[in-house]
Amino acid sequence: MSDSASRRSPSNAEKHATGVVRTDWTKGEVQSIFDSPLLELLFHAARVHRMHHDSRQVQQCTLLSIKTGGCSEDCSYCPQSSRYSTGVKAQKLLKEDVVLEAARKAKEAGSSRFCMGAAWRDMHGRKTNFNTILNYVTEIRSMGMEVCCTLGMLTPTQAVQLKEAGLTAYNHNLDTSREHYPKIITTRSYDDRLTTLAAVRDAGISVCSGGIIGLGESETDRISLLHTLATLPSHPESVPINALLAVPGTPLEDNTPVNIWEMVRMISTARIIMPQSMVRLSAGRVRFSVPEQGLCFMAGANSIFTGDKLLTTPNNEFSQDQQMFETLGLVPKQANFNQGRQDDKAFLGDMDVETQPKTVPKGHFVIEG
Ligand code: SF4
Repeated sequence: MSDSASRRSPSNAEKHATGVVRTDWTKGEVQSIFDSPLLELLFHAARVHRMHHDSRQVQQCTLLSIKTGGCSEDCSYCPQSSRYSTGVKAQKLLKEDVVLEAARKAKEAGSSRFCMGAAWRDMHGRKTNFNTILNYVTEIRSMGMEVCCTLGMLTPTQAVQLKEAGLTAYNHNLDTSREHYPKIITTRSYDDRLTTLAAVRDAGISVCSGGIIGLGESETDRISLLHTLATLPSHPESVPINALLAVPGTPLEDNTPVNIWEMVRMISTARIIMPQSMVRLSAGRVRFSVPEQGLCFMAGANSIFTGDKLLTTPNNEFSQDQQMFETLGLVPKQANFNQGRQDDKAFLGDMDVETQPKTVPKGHFVIEG
């Protein structure tokens, strides 16, 4: 599994686990942290986590696919690409009543953030749909929830429009390292992705960007991905770490599943080099037991997608997540609207943000790239 000759014995994790926010990490520094003995790495990540976060709080996000399937892109892991025979049928944009009802239910069930995913390359030529989504953003924000979208590539103008509509965060994953990327996606470039992230950041929207492990990448690629994220002009506020759930019909259908130690190493390293970010234990969580997920939370993960489905792939059962929170002594994190570069209190006015979630929602979920 390892392409490092051996794990170095002295703990570089300890040396770098200062909790200081830096965007000037060298790849060598990231590698030295990543290669630290695993339990040392985990311990120091847990220390850093407690410098910046309430270690009991875990954010719960509900992710609704508002436009499923039929995507023109060729992301090798994705069952929504029209290029692969996965049984996922192309659907039109969901109607307002369906989307708002899903958001209401998510809020009632305890989610503080509602994410809307659409399987599109970008919003080019989709003005009507884009305006509809802007309206969804405003409506859901007025319910007292954080709102996130993942709609593919954005122009700076579209990012500003989303911000003005009340968007809290935008998800656009880097997926993997720049080096491995051409083996996974050919229909858009790594730089396209970075350009969209810059547009989101410049608009004052919170950036959600991470990657997927299990795409056939080496450990060097994982280190490179983490290094890219941690040397952006500012760290993404959310960093999803996904483990591939290989879907039959996709080019990666036979990939070997990642194990829990690979996830713990990724999460721990992310936590040390991006100490203030929310690190999201995302797709693939369903494969991990409660003790294994507990290790991820100890390593610094503090956000999950809740619900019983991730579109075509299963997610953890509602009742199991409730039991896990109880067992591990975790509590849901409440909404935080002061995200992104610009202060968006003006949008909120006197909105009551004391929306402490109590339970875990059921829903319909998708991981988008
Ligand atoms: S990950 Fe997103 S962009 Fe890529 S094929 Fe799937 S829906 Fe399309």
